[in-house]
Amino acid sequence: MIRSEVEKVKENFEGLRDEIKSCQKCELCRTRKNPVFGEGDENARILFVGEAPGRVEDEKGMPFVGHSGKLLDRMLAAVGLNRNEGIFITNIIKCRPPNNMDPVEEQQKACSVYLKRQIELIDPKIIICLGRIAAYNLLGPEYRVTKDHGRIQERDGVYVMGMFHPAALLRSNQYKEEAFKDFLILKEFLKRFDGPNLEDSKSS
Ligand code: SF4
Repeated sequence: MIRSEVEKVKENFEGLRDEIKSCQKCELCRTRKNPVFGEGDENARILFVGEAPGRVEDEKGMPFVGHSGKLLDRMLAAVGLNRNEGIFITNIIKCRPPNNMDPVEEQQKACSVYLKRQIELIDPKIIICLGRIAAYNLLGPEYRVTKDHGRIQERDGVYVMGMFHPAALLRSNQYKEEAFKDFLILKEFLKRFDGPNLEDSKSS
């Protein structure tokens, strides 16, 4: 019997999940409780990529389930989106850095292969980088979230956009309105991503 493409992707997904579960490529494996593979639709149109699991995520083995995750859910709902439909959520780093420290360069490098494979398997229409570390990895060191957020760019045939990390929005109200506009840009993109000319969609 010829297996469908969907079945093959599923099998690869499970293989990758198992690999991450037993990964010891960096020292974060010694302090994590649970690696956080990511969660959502394996055929998602939108892939959200954050920085690294926090305390609650480490305990539950699930991404964005603490206060940041609840804010992300509210912002998605505000534009009629839902993390259970057409969305996959993961992080650059799959294991929690102790005390929520920024993951160091070596850890980001060691873990980046897993995100690369997730992107290949999911093949999303757009990747949303939540915060500085994700944008640094996927959009380059020059990218500044405070300045460049909301701008959709093409990278290796996939559209990528940076947004504020929900944790930053919880710390300060300063960027909440701009963050909401970015979700509207995403919503608009989804309506027209099949169109012939996607121009820079940064709103003024
Ligand atoms: S952070 Fe990534 S590279 Fe490091 S142990 Fe966890 S899965 Fe492996």
